Amino acid sequence: MSRSVFITGANRGIGLAVARMMAADGDRVAVGHRGGDVPEGLLGVRCEVTDQSSVDEAFETVAREQGPVEVLVANAGITRDTLLLRMGDDTFDEVLDTNLRGVFRTVRAAASVMLAERRGRIVLLSSALGFLGSPGQTNYAATKTALLGFARSLAWELGPRGITVNLVAPGIIETDMTKDLSDRRMRDTMRMTPVGRPGTDREVAAAVRFLASEDAGYITGAVLPVGGGIGMGI
Ligand code: NDP
Repeated sequence: MSRSVFITGANRGIGLAVARMMAADGDRVAVGHRGGDVPEGLLGVRCEVTDQSSVDEAFETVAREQGPVEVLVANAGITRDTLLLRMGDDTFDEVLDTNLRGVFRTVRAAASVMLAERRGRIVLLSSALGFLGSPGQTNYAATKTALLGFARSLAWELGPRGITVNLVAPGIIETDMTKDLSDRRMRDTMRMTPVGRPGTDREVAAAVRFLASEDAGYITGAVLPVGGGIGMGI
């Protein structure tokens, strides 16, 4: 069955891999971007998640072009790493506004559409390192673990209406976000990773696809780690 899917921050990285995979499955996929290039064959929709009017317009465009959103993947995210004592309010707030409030804005817009349809799948991109803790990432980790409380509370609100809300928690994945990690940081992280290598965007996309599938209708409020085993049991 072809569904209307919207993915934020999907012009590159994990979001784009999810978009390609779900489009290949036959879904109608809208790729949220901020002016970045969108590959041919995918519907590009401008969506700045720090701006509510941009988010609302994006949902209107998606509904007009491919039908009301049935699957939302809240993927847009940033890092602004630095040690706490060097972290200014701006740096902290920027990460919160994108990774947490941005999810709040997009999920609220999606939920109002999905409640009317009494069906839907919401998948949020969290982080395995967020749960484990990661030096220099107090801002980022705070947002990524906050998504768990957000998702579980929302799971209660939306569950009776056939809408599920789940988290995917990737470990280190090879994208632009991690390309500047120092060799030492990468080595240290790989030591904590049983599989012993970074993951690929497609490996994360496969997990998102599963949680977004019709078959995953009895899974909600869950965290699916995609981290090669890093942080097992956390
Ligand atoms: P990338 O840096 O490769 O891509 C980030 C995407 O988010 C880009 O499309 C970017 O758009 C978009 N984005 C950033 N800020 C905004 C905003 N304010 N409004 C709309 N879009 C925005 O990241 P990844 O693909 O690696 O990460 C995707 C998600 O997965 C993130 O939430 C990240 O935290 C999470 N994650 C990633 C891990 C990794 O190792 N890579 C590990 C754990 C979690 P633009 O091109 O315009 O900048």
